[in-house]
Amino acid sequence: MRILHVAAEIYPLVKTGGLADVVAALPPALAKRGLDVRVLLPGFPGILDGMVDLKPLLRIGPLFGAAVVTFCIGRLPDSGLPAYVIDAPFLFRRDGNPYVGPDGQDWNDNHRRFALLAWAAAHLASAEIDPEWRPDIVHAHDWHAGLVPVYIAQNPALHTATVLTVHNLAFRGIFPLDSNAELGLPARKLTPLGVEFHGKISFMKAGLVYSNRITTVSPTYAREIRTAEFGCGLEGVLRDRGGELSGILNGVDYGVWKPDDPLIAKPYSAENLKGKKACKLALQTELGLAKTADRPLFAVVSRLTSQKGMDLLLAALPELLREGAQLAVLGSGDGDLEAGFKYAAAANPETVAVRIGYDEALSHRFMAGADVLLVPSRFEPCGLTQLYALRYGTLPLVRRVGGLADTVIDATTDNLAADRATGFVFGEATRLALGARISEASALYRDPEVWRRVQRRGMLQDFSWDDSAANYEALYRSLQTVGEKAGLATA
Ligand code: ADP
Repeated sequence: MRILHVAAEIYPLVKTGGLADVVAALPPALAKRGLDVRVLLPGFPGILDGMVDLKPLLRIGPLFGAAVVTFCIGRLPDSGLPAYVIDAPFLFRRDGNPYVGPDGQDWNDNHRRFALLAWAAAHLASAEIDPEWRPDIVHAHDWHAGLVPVYIAQNPALHTATVLTVHNLAFRGIFPLDSNAELGLPARKLTPLGVEFHGKISFMKAGLVYSNRITTVSPTYAREIRTAEFGCGLEGVLRDRGGELSGILNGVDYGVWKPDDPLIAKPYSAENLKGKKACKLALQTELGLAKTADRPLFAVVSRLTSQKGMDLLLAALPELLREGAQLAVLGSGDGDLEAGFKYAAAANPETVAVRIGYDEALSHRFMAGADVLLVPSRFEPCGLTQLYALRYGTLPLVRRVGGLADTVIDATTDNLAADRATGFVFGEATRLALGARISEASALYRDPEVWRRVQRRGMLQDFSWDDSAANYEALYRSLQTVGEKAGLATA
């Protein structure tokens, strides 16, 4: 079975969030199962620089505003898997973030940039870009690849099945309705049953309507997004397509995230946690925090946004300080939240430290050095950091939502007694609920024996890609047999 993954990010070449980690890890996990897997990526500078043996396959143009587009094939640096790269200098060779310019605003030609990505996928499906390889299934990730199922459905000669994975429904890829001509979308598709969304075009909705299967990255999020609270206005479509929608939990690349990784101060394991103490001391020293072992160190590695509940955390900070705990924050995002954390650090130099920015190596030192990782998200499709934290013996403290609810077992009296607990879970998205759980976690920290048991239980959890890859393979196989085209919206 030949599978093409289509995405805008891949770790370590271009990453803004968990999507990049998934796109790096899932294809090799599928290849390990014997599937013939390739990846299609836009030619951002980080991708062009990081690929191995990149060779041109086809040069054409003009296309979506680019004078010349060169489709290339090469190998991914880590997994060695074949990957197609779209070298369109005018559209993709831009520094910084794949989606926004230096002013923080979306690039104003994003509709054309990501339509080109989908167009390339459809033309790989028709073997017009690479006559030697043609996918049976195209797996599109997030709104960036949302037009893939549309373009494939638009070509009646193609019988390629499509899967769309929603990594975050809040980003819907919304563009003016009259961009349809540039995108090659016929007017008859501009209806609520097609790609239209409140007088605009939504790439995410397009993918949801036209793909053969929809997945999202945790079973709980797959249920939540059918409701108005989490559906971002797309809950109706998701309910309509409920029979084709399922949740498959993301995995962790334990080759990268492990408590003996080379980026941390001292290696340790579930059997011998001594090195973790050294990691905590090293992190406190690095961040200028008071060097103390007897106070819990809470940490955040996250985008600083209200989705991630960072405003709740700022509001609950007095509770954390009252407990005598420390807080270390690594992240960037909303200006107000960045300023709030910076102010808190300036006011409490020995107990609160903030590093604004994106720093992969430092994030490993945070995971290893902290006692508790805070993920108080308002919504969370899967969440990866709580999974990393578990492996490092850092207890996740999370809100009971999406993938967080699916992966962390709360340290209730019952779960502690049964030796099941792996972290802390709270319900309401309020300062009080978060503050109360922070206090309870601080109290548990004062009982080292119980704490160590929870750490060990967490470290033994297995969220590797093996199970997830098996689930995706089963999904692909279910698509091979059905006359899927018949069920598609082909209007
Ligand atoms: P999301 O994709 O919604 O941002 P996830 O938890 O799924 O959240 O994935 C976030 C990824 O980005 C994780 O790999 C996390 O370690 C990483 N990350 C987030 N912020 C930072 C940062 N400031 N520095 C380094 N890594 C970060």
